[in-house]
Amino acid sequence: MGVPTLGCMCAVCHSTDPHNNRMRSSIALRYADAGSTQRTVLIDTGQEFRMQALRFGVNSVDAVLYTHGHADHVLGFDDLRPLTFGKDANLPLYADDSTADVIEQIFSYTFDKANRYPTSARVDLHRLSSEPGTTVDLFGATVERVPVQHGRQVIAGYRFGRAAYLTDMSDLSERSYESLQGLDIVILDALRREPHPSHSHLDKSVAIAQRIGAKRTYFTHISHDLDHGPTEAELPEGIHLAYDGLRLPFRIHEVAQ
Ligand SMILES: [Zn+2]
Ligand SMILES: [Zn+2]
Ligand SMILES: [Zn+2]
Repeated sequence: MGVPTLGCMCAVCHSTDPHNNRMRSSIALRYADAGSTQRTVLIDTGQEFRMQALRFGVNSVDAVLYTHGHADHVLGFDDLRPLTFGKDANLPLYADDSTADVIEQIFSYTFDKANRYPTSARVDLHRLSSEPGTTVDLFGATVERVPVQHGRQVIAGYRFGRAAYLTDMSDLSERSYESLQGLDIVILDALRREPHPSHSHLDKSVAIAQRIGAKRTYFTHISHDLDHGPTEAELPEGIHLAYDGLRLPFRIHEVAQ
């Protein structure tokens, strides 16, 4: 819901610590392709995509990977428009069938072949298989779709080189744990302290992080339940709370251990 949460009077929602100011979850991957051109690949475009792009200097986008079709992950789609104008090619989007269906339905004026709104986003929506092990090559980097349990749904996490992003996760299959071996960085859902039907909670996320065994873990999709400073102080070594604007260096290519 974002922090501050509308209508809430709690201490975290009124905190003066900027780490407690949380827009909806998404990340941008930045890396150089084979021709040394800097590329930006987004994972999700939530309601605040425009504000995030302005605040953190996302001036161009080369591709977008979507995790699932919930509002907090897709509703910023339309603000991609100005970043798609005047380009040689349409902006490629990648989503599994159920997510692509939601995007096409909400933004039907963009995808309607007979009656497309003339200045809608210039995008090509590519449908990704939901089978474990599905990969997509983006500008010389291989991104693997890692299936993630999100309540009753199975949605997409993504692994890119030695890092992975698993937002909106309540559990992981054995097969997905296999896909997450040898990571330097994993970014995991940890919504709050109490269990939730479709999101992992703090203790469970710590256990999942320890099983994945990445060198460093960052929790995301954090509600107003978690006060940044005190929560950060109680987490085991190598496990941290992420925050808006956090920048993490990672290897986009697999390197032998
Ligand atoms: Zn609150
Ligand atoms: Zn969700
Ligand atoms: Zn979400």
